Amino acid sequence: MTLRFSVLASGSTGNAFYIESNEQKILVDAGLSGKQMDYLFSEVNVDPSTLSGILVTHEHSDHIKGLGIIARKYNLPIYANEKTWKAMEKSLGKLSVDQKFHFGMEEVKTFKDMEIESFGVSHDAAEPMFYTFRHEGKKIALVTDLGYVSERIKKTVEDADAYIFEANHDVGMLRVGRYPWSVKRRILGDSGHVSNEDCGLALTDIISNRTKRIYLAHLSLDNNMKDLARMSVKNVLQERGIDIELHDTDPKSPTALYEVG
Ligand SMILES: [Zn+2]
Ligand SMILES: [Zn+2]
Repeated sequence: MTLRFSVLASGSTGNAFYIESNEQKILVDAGLSGKQMDYLFSEVNVDPSTLSGILVTHEHSDHIKGLGIIARKYNLPIYANEKTWKAMEKSLGKLSVDQKFHFGMEEVKTFKDMEIESFGVSHDAAEPMFYTFRHEGKKIALVTDLGYVSERIKKTVEDADAYIFEANHDVGMLRVGRYPWSVKRRILGDSGHVSNEDCGLALTDIISNRTKRIYLAHLSLDNNMKDLARMSVKNVLQERGIDIELHDTDPKSPTALYEVG
């Protein structure tokens, strides 16, 4: 049994997530330039021409910036829901029809030896959705770009072996920071991003004894810091008697390939 993943890059400057099993290699989002994407793949020793496909979460540029380029260069199929396709299609450039596939919201699809489930999130995009990945009893959940973590999302992502979970901002830093109020309101709102504290609270509800690994993701460059995010989330968890190590992600360099075992 093999299920390995790397958060290739995470943050408002660009997101990409890589997951592989024995039978396939899958990319989720390609939010950095083609050149940067190639660099990230080389850092984890993955040849992007061996990918089976790319799943898309939503059309924000920090998730699709290099998507058209990578898909064309390596002739890869792209999977997204209908509204996301509509919203992003123009910015992708020319793709052939056999590269365009549909992955609906709240759908479970089998990709060879992996079961991938999509779930909708509250975020200011056309039809944003994220994914869980299952393989031989193991489960990984990718959860970023959401204004709040609904009960429904908690049910879908609970009891996973590993999480990549959004800890976007420190509410205090955001409030006193330089962003105009309209932007602050967007980030703090129900269609924005999850704060460090809300990340901790959500994790408290969803993790189990089975959970071995948590990566904090999509940290704001202006309104968060890695140490602060880790400490804030850890405090919330510890107050509720949960002691688990938290791992960083980075906007520019990939996390080491982690094998879920
Ligand atoms: Zn994003
Ligand atoms: Zn977004």
